[in-house]
Amino acid sequence: MWRSRPWFDCCDLIIQEGRIWRIVQHPDAEGPAPGDRVVDASGWVLLPGFINLHAHTPMTVLRDVTEDKPLARWLREEVWPRELRMRSWELLEGSKAALDEMLRSGFTTVLDMYRSMDVVGRLAEGRGMRAYLACGLVGWWPLSELGLRGALRLRRKFEGSRRVQVALGPHSPRYCPPAYLRRVLNLAGRAGMIVHMHCGEDPQEAGLWRKRHGYTPAEFLCNQLRGRSAPRVILAHAVHLGDPEIGRLAELPVGVAHCPTANVRLLGRTAVVRRLLEAGVPVGLGTDGAPSVGRLDAFSTIRDCALLAASGGDDAQLSPMQVLWMATRGGALALGRKELGQLSPGSAADLVALDMELMGTRRPGIKAACRALVWSARPDQVRMVMVDGIAVWTGRTEGPS
Ligand SMILES: [Zn+2]
Repeated sequence: MWRSRPWFDCCDLIIQEGRIWRIVQHPDAEGPAPGDRVVDASGWVLLPGFINLHAHTPMTVLRDVTEDKPLARWLREEVWPRELRMRSWELLEGSKAALDEMLRSGFTTVLDMYRSMDVVGRLAEGRGMRAYLACGLVGWWPLSELGLRGALRLRRKFEGSRRVQVALGPHSPRYCPPAYLRRVLNLAGRAGMIVHMHCGEDPQEAGLWRKRHGYTPAEFLCNQLRGRSAPRVILAHAVHLGDPEIGRLAELPVGVAHCPTANVRLLGRTAVVRRLLEAGVPVGLGTDGAPSVGRLDAFSTIRDCALLAASGGDDAQLSPMQVLWMATRGGALALGRKELGQLSPGSAADLVALDMELMGTRRPGIKAACRALVWSARPDQVRMVMVDGIAVWTGRTEGPS
């Protein structure tokens, strides 16, 4: 059992067997039972663990190496040639660095997409993080077949893992034609796997598909994802989506990973987050890969999200509470994990605790606390990160033993 005390409403959070068991407003008259572990969280604020809904973990080795260019040229000229030369030890070191940076800023779950996903899975398990591993797939034979076989092998490898799940990661509509995407979706639906893909990132993607196939990728997904056996699909970026498509996607098992920093840096624009949320699409936050964003900590992504919304005019404004919701509950709902992303009895005890006194704000109330978390919080204020009730990071100061 864990017992802690968020300062803004002074309650005790009681955790048992990895779940939040009770939240009590006043100290329990009985106090902790013998053997209970008690954490004094005075001056801390507790939040649900953050969910990183779109990452390319091993790419950290390319951080600050590539030159900024429009997306298609950036991939072709800067990323792919370097990826061909990547060695396995670089992928390992890059993955370690990325997961540590994420976890220490409060990310407790990551939805990844790349190669070497077995390495990322083992590292995430070792750190106690939750991870969805989407093997990056492209629709060119023979890579198309090899990729699918590799994903199924990976799935067998992590069968029975408590925190690691395997997903399918068709890279994007540009590199996965309709017939291949249909196969991926059918396979994922039968196997109960999540599909994680870029969509609406490439500005030419929808036009190319309409010309070649007579419909856009979003229209294709709307037709494919009807029915009970449809898999859950997470669309990364979703910048270039029209209103009718957004309305239809809201009725399907589709979530969006909003990647604010990468959207602006490589695309020069941002997603219509407010419209997606108002339509009822669950939207979470994603860092994307280190080469397109630099920092992978939760707070820079949260701040960038709020900053870009503030620059987009009245129609784009997001409140600090909405931004924090996206970083936690929005991501959980996008993944179909109702037990994640909130602090309530019965939810998984995935938490991040921050020392608010270091922020220079004292008892400002919940709205001001949300503002402080969005605009001022930094990773070095994280005092504890917990997954399933187990402290997986305890910051620099003393924490639970
Ligand atoms: Zn990406």
